[in-house]
Amino acid sequence: MGEVWDPARGVVLREVAGSSVAEVDAAISRAVTAYEKWRNVSAGDRARVLRRFAAVVDEHLEELARLEVSNAGHTIGNARWEAGNVRDVLDYYAGAPERLTGRQIPVPGGLDVTFHEPLGVVGVIVPWNFPMPIAAWGFAPALAAGNTVVLKPAESTPLTALRLAELADQAGLPEGVFTVLPGRGDVVGERFVSHPAVRKICFTGSTEVGIRIMAGCAAGVKRLTLELGGKSANLVFADADLERAAATAPYAVFDNAGQDCCARSRILVQRVVYDRFLELLEPAVRAFRVGDPADETVEMGPLISAAHRDRVAGYVDEARVAFTGSRPDGPGYWYAPTVLLADSTADRHWREEIFGPVVSVLPFDDEADALRLANDTEYGLSGSIWTRDVGRALRVARAVEAGNLSVNSHSSVRYWTPFGGMKRSGLGRELGPDALHAFTDVKNVFISTEE
Ligand code: NAD
Repeated sequence: MGEVWDPARGVVLREVAGSSVAEVDAAISRAVTAYEKWRNVSAGDRARVLRRFAAVVDEHLEELARLEVSNAGHTIGNARWEAGNVRDVLDYYAGAPERLTGRQIPVPGGLDVTFHEPLGVVGVIVPWNFPMPIAAWGFAPALAAGNTVVLKPAESTPLTALRLAELADQAGLPEGVFTVLPGRGDVVGERFVSHPAVRKICFTGSTEVGIRIMAGCAAGVKRLTLELGGKSANLVFADADLERAAATAPYAVFDNAGQDCCARSRILVQRVVYDRFLELLEPAVRAFRVGDPADETVEMGPLISAAHRDRVAGYVDEARVAFTGSRPDGPGYWYAPTVLLADSTADRHWREEIFGPVVSVLPFDDEADALRLANDTEYGLSGSIWTRDVGRALRVARAVEAGNLSVNSHSSVRYWTPFGGMKRSGLGRELGPDALHAFTDVKNVFISTEE
């Protein structure tokens, strides 16, 4: 830890000290103490505090958004959406405490009831690509279910999380209920995993680190949600509205400079319309507005760091470039939107998550071929299907091995619908009506009515 950078200007914004293991242990022990009280706060009161937290976030939307523009290089439009998403996720799960009901199950000789008990302290580990929303997807339902939370932001983007902790305080969350601990993954993150009082880990990040965390959790049979990498397909069939499919494809992959786990970074186009699609795609890519993320009209900012830009460039250097968009000169970690032509599914840029503004295109012959190519990946997070044939849309949506699919659109995240990956893209689901249960254990109680 240490220096926190502005990726659009290539300058240091602030110094943030990383937490030590001793500091993490002290925070966890405060969270354990706070848990005993927080879990017993009445459902209505817990809901009220969370609604207040949402209201305080709402009052600070612009400040949070500006902070993200400078710390993560997100466009101001995106950053406002992200801060608004934190408010909405808090509001949504603020409705949960009074509705967290168990069951009454008919049994002979007594009464059988179930309770959704909170787990205890939940450790949330967040990546740098969407610092605010991903944090909230973990902490909001965890707190609503009666857990306390320790949260570790990514090394490079801790500023909005630290500010959210202050806003939580201002909203009246009791001390120790929600603690943000900036620091290194191999220090703070690993301590969350190894500490026996942390009962669940909610991790979003790379598949590589996720596997390591899963192994660590196994030792303590620790509950775990994993949201990992992706290499999602955008399937364009010949009967689709090609103009719309081509006009929207850049947004589906270049948004947030491609640093999006849901990026549709593989475009599969039916061979009979392949040339026409590329003809339509080219002007859309060239027109993509890349520049100062604080400018209201800009659609894409810089990459997060110089090292990440070099990593992205490494994929392009060895590939066949169809065309690129533009990028500003000068300081900042800029990379132009880039379209690559895949020669085969063995190409490294076709197989690996690049996490930058780079998309690979490959033709397919028919529906079976499209499915085979779409599913030929270790990942399974999201994807899009473009066709006017309703039957095909449904068949393909059921057959693509991914957790979040959209037909004739690229939307994948709504806070009231479930989100998560299949295969090596993750484990468990966040958001939506069921996420709350991932932060509880079911307890069954039998009460005898025998005399
Ligand atoms: P990363 O795995 O390097 O880091 C993620 C977080 O884990 C950071 O806070 C990091 O400090 C921490 N960490 C690192 N090593 C650790 C360890 N040994 N123990 C505990 N914590 C550790 O990922 P990143 O580069 O920050 O983020 C990019 C990745 O995140 C991409 O692969 C992307 O696809 C994925 N992602 C997935 C989703 C999703 O919802 N599926 C969403 C956003 C990002």
